[in-house]
Amino acid sequence: MALSQVVGRLLGIRRHQVDPGGGAPRVPHPVDVVVVGGGIAGISAAVVLAERGAAVTVLEAAPTLGGRLAAWPETLADGTRQMTEHGFHAFFRQYYNWRSVLRRIDPRLGFLKPVPGYPILSRRWPTEEFGRLPPAPPASLLALLARSPSLRLRDLRGMDRDAALPLLAYHPERTYAELDGATADELLTSLRLPDRARAMLFDVFSHSFFNHEAEMSAAEMVAQFHFYLLGNPEGLAFDCPDEDYATAIWAPLTRHLREHGGRVVTGVPATGLSRDGAGWRVRAADGTSYGAGHVVLAVDPPALATLVAASPALVELAPDLVRRMPAFGRPAPPYAVARYWCAGDVAADRAVFSGVSRQPTLDSVTLYHRLENESRRWAERTGGSVVELHAYACEPGVAAGELAERMWAELTALWPEAAGLRVRELRTRVEAKAPAFTPGSHAGRPGVRTDADGLYLAGDGVRTDFPSALMERAAATGIIAANHILRAEGGAAEPVHSVRPLGLLARRTP
Ligand SMILES: Cc1cc2nc3c(=O)[nH]c(=O)nc-3n(C[C@H](O)[C@H](O)[C@H](O)COP(=O)(O)OP(=O)(O)OC[C@H]3O[C@@H](n4cnc5c(N)ncnc54)[C@H](O)[C@@H]3O)c2cc1C
Repeated sequence: MALSQVVGRLLGIRRHQVDPGGGAPRVPHPVDVVVVGGGIAGISAAVVLAERGAAVTVLEAAPTLGGRLAAWPETLADGTRQMTEHGFHAFFRQYYNWRSVLRRIDPRLGFLKPVPGYPILSRRWPTEEFGRLPPAPPASLLALLARSPSLRLRDLRGMDRDAALPLLAYHPERTYAELDGATADELLTSLRLPDRARAMLFDVFSHSFFNHEAEMSAAEMVAQFHFYLLGNPEGLAFDCPDEDYATAIWAPLTRHLREHGGRVVTGVPATGLSRDGAGWRVRAADGTSYGAGHVVLAVDPPALATLVAASPALVELAPDLVRRMPAFGRPAPPYAVARYWCAGDVAADRAVFSGVSRQPTLDSVTLYHRLENESRRWAERTGGSVVELHAYACEPGVAAGELAERMWAELTALWPEAAGLRVRELRTRVEAKAPAFTPGSHAGRPGVRTDADGLYLAGDGVRTDFPSALMERAAATGIIAANHILRAEGGAAEPVHSVRPLGLLARRTP
C-alpha cells in the first residue's frame, strides 16, 4: 500500500460498504424477472438475479449487448474485419461494483490492463499530466497542486478559498440542497482561478460527464470531483481491456448468465408494459410478450421516457415515475465518436489516451493500435494507426461526418504530425443518450425503486445515495435493483460498495 493510501485510510478514504448483502443463497420459490435493456445496468442486475436462482430474461433492442459499451464487427474496404466500439472507456479503479460484476468472468481482472498517464492537451498551454500522482487524497491533491504548471502559489493566494470549500465537503444531501440550483460554471467562476488552471484542471472534467459546465449542476460537479479525485484511495488511475468489449466482456458475461439459467433476447425492443395479475407483462416489438413478477427498466433516459409514455397503465400504477419522465428523458447534448484507420502513425511518444481542453469539438484522443490487440495487428500489418476521437458534448444538429472532420482538424492543431496521416477508413456516429445533470434536476431524478410494486429502474442517470458515476453508477443501480427483488423474494442480496461517502470537510449531520 502506498504511503498516501495509509494516510488516506486514517482519514477514512477507503472502500465503504453501502449494503453488506447476505441472506439465503437462493430464492426459495420460482421468481420471474424481465430486465429491459442489456447494457451495464441491465446485465449487472440480471447476473446477480440469475446467480440466486431467479428466472431472468433480458430484452435488448440492439443486435448486440452492451449499450453504450457495445462492440460490433465492421468490414473495411480492404476486406479486414475490425471490431468497432461505441467508444473508448476508462475503467477506473474505484468502480467497485462494476468490477465485482466483471470478476464473475475473470476473478483477477487480468483482462484489464493499466493505462499509464492521463495527459490533458491544449493548443494554448503545455500538456498537463493528471496521471502518475500519489493514489490517495489528500496527498494526490497536494501533489497535483504542487507540480501543476497551471497553478502557482500566488494563484492559490488569489483564489476564493471559501468558494472552494464545497468541493472538499461533498455530502449526499447538503451538497444538493445548497448547490443543485447553481451551474458548474458559476461554481468554477466563483473560485477565481486563473484561466489556465481552470482550462487544464477543471474544464475537461465536466465535459467528461457529457454536460456543458454552463448547463451542469454545481452539486453534480462537486459529487463527481469527490468520486474521482477526493474520495477514493485509487486516484485517477484506470485500466482498459486489451481486446474489444464484445470479446472481453459481453461474450463471457452472456455465457455466465446463460450458465445460470438466464435468457438473453437481442434485437427485440420492449414496446410497453402493463399489469398482469399481481405482476407485469412486457410487450416486445416482435409481437411476443413476457410475464414477470418483477421488471427492471435498465434503458437510457430517452428510451425510458418513451417506454413509460407507451405504457398507459403506469399513469395509475406509477404516477410519480410518469411525472418525472419528461424532464429525465431529455438527454445531455449529443456526443460523437469517430474511429479512423490511417496510413502512417503519430509520434511514438503520444499517449494511449489524452483528454483535450478547450477545443470547440474535440474532447479526447485514443490510440487504439497501442491499446487493443486487433487494432495493433492491423497497424503492424499495414504500417498504419487506429485513432479514435470523441466529442462529449457537441453542437446539436451537426451531422456525424461533419463532426468527424472538425475533430480531425482540431487534432492536427494539437499534434501537427496527424496532418500527414492519410485516413483510409472512417466510422463515425453521433448520438444523444447520456443523462443530463442540469441545475435543479436532482430533486426530480428517479431512484431505483419506483412507486409501482415490482418495477425498478437502473442506469447511469438513476439516483444513488452514495457517490457514483457513469459505468459505476450503471452497475451499482443494476445491483441495487436486483437486491430489492431478492430481499422481497427471500434470496441473498449482493454487497454494494462506494468510495468515502462524505467529503473530507463535510459535517456528518444532515
Ligand atoms: C463515447 C462514450 C465514452 C464513454 N466513456 C466512459 C468512460 O471512460 N468511463 C465511464 O465510466 N463511462 C463512460 N461512458 C459512459 C458509459 O458508457 C455509460 O455510463 C454506461 O454504459 C451506461 O450503461 P447503462 O446500462 O446505464 O445504459 P446503456 O448502455 O445506454 O444501456 C441501455 C440499453 O437499453 C437498450 N434499450 C433501449 N431501449 C430499449 C427498449 N425499448 N427495449 C430493449 N432495450 C432497450 C439500449 O439498446 C441499450 O443497450 C462513455 C459513454 C460514451 C457514449
